[in-house]
Amino acid sequence: MVNAISILGSTGSIGRQSIEAAVHLGVPVKALTAQSKIDLLEEQARRLNPEFVAVYDEQAAKAFKTAVADTNIRVGSGIEGLMEAAAMDSIDCVVTAVSGAVGLKPTLAAIEQKKRIALANKETLVCAGDIVMAKAAELGAEIVPVDSEHSAIFQCLMGHEKKELKKILLTGSGGPFRGKPRAELENVTPEQAVKHPNWSMGAKISVDSATMMNKGLEFVEAMHLFGVTPDDIEVVVHPQSVIHSMVELVDGTVIAQLGVPDMGLPIQLAMSYPERCPSMFGRLDFSTLKDLTFEAPDFEKTPCLKLAIDCARLGGTAPCVMSAANEVAVGLFLRHKLGYNRIYDAAAGAVEKLGVIHNADLDTILEADSAARAYVLETFSK
Ligand code: NDP
Ligand code: MG
Repeated sequence: MVNAISILGSTGSIGRQSIEAAVHLGVPVKALTAQSKIDLLEEQARRLNPEFVAVYDEQAAKAFKTAVADTNIRVGSGIEGLMEAAAMDSIDCVVTAVSGAVGLKPTLAAIEQKKRIALANKETLVCAGDIVMAKAAELGAEIVPVDSEHSAIFQCLMGHEKKELKKILLTGSGGPFRGKPRAELENVTPEQAVKHPNWSMGAKISVDSATMMNKGLEFVEAMHLFGVTPDDIEVVVHPQSVIHSMVELVDGTVIAQLGVPDMGLPIQLAMSYPERCPSMFGRLDFSTLKDLTFEAPDFEKTPCLKLAIDCARLGGTAPCVMSAANEVAVGLFLRHKLGYNRIYDAAAGAVEKLGVIHNADLDTILEADSAARAYVLETFSK
């Protein structure tokens, strides 16, 4: 069990659930961060009394400082504020629940201080997985996945050696538009895209789930977390989201992790690991469970998933460029400034335009990330 935590992105979907898990487990929360939602952040701060709060947006940080002037809470801002929250002496674990590549630098700052990373922010590993995993291994910082599929794989591999693993079976529901041809999705609105059949999540990841880019990002995330190649991972569409992922061992045994689709479970485990604690979430009732069904992904209908797997095979900066372009494109789509099907065009266009750089250092990766964002804004912004 961890002793004390920081939560990066505490006002988001995972961040709010992380607060509830920490309160349930009795783990003190020493720092909170958000981008700009300071009303909720203030409520959280008054409830949890953290030492430090960082607000990414400078203006919002000023307003927040004024709002909590009657408390002892220190207030920071910008990426430095996030990095400080991630690396404080008083914590041993940071929950990275920001959305997007902004999570990368704070994650590296936490690894430098050998903190446990309860990793929700998948874009960090997609962007710079080689660097992050190598640094964590070098310094002995634990990375415990929060993403439900990776938490499932992590749990299925407990007690097994890497050489016993044959294949990772990464499950995904297929999202709200499963089976629909691309031509029928031309006029999809943000409101339709964020309505996930099984999970309640933030807006960006909900759109990624609809395009199945989310499964593609998770494919890359799994490669890094578990040190495997693209050939070792198979995507399995499982619309009910009861099995959260599986591993096949060399003898043909398949081990699955099942549970109700509630992120509270993997979040709690990332804090309590290696302990298991009673949870406050629902339980699976096999007497009411009906069909558990499985199908292969249809790559023609989900070109984002295909693109992500192709980028995983290309390696180097390709996944970072794809993910950054996707992040900007999804942002434009959510603001009604880009059509749904153009999200794929933007991500694929960026990879084609910018090419791949292999063995890139952190600066080169960050430059590729910026170039991808600029490309999408220049080429696709209406
Ligand atoms: P949300 O959009 O709900 O929340 C995002 C959080 O990050 C908010 O606190 C937001 O602050 C903050 N944030 C956003 N942009 C910035 C920025 N530029 N600088 C600083 N803070 C920022 O996202 P989710 O909780 O859904 O997802 C968070 C991460 O977890 C993502 O990487 C996602 O892929 C991953 N994940 C999420 C799952 C889920 O069920 N939601 C499941 C598995 C993984 P503010 O509120 O002020 O905007
Ligand atoms: Mg997931």
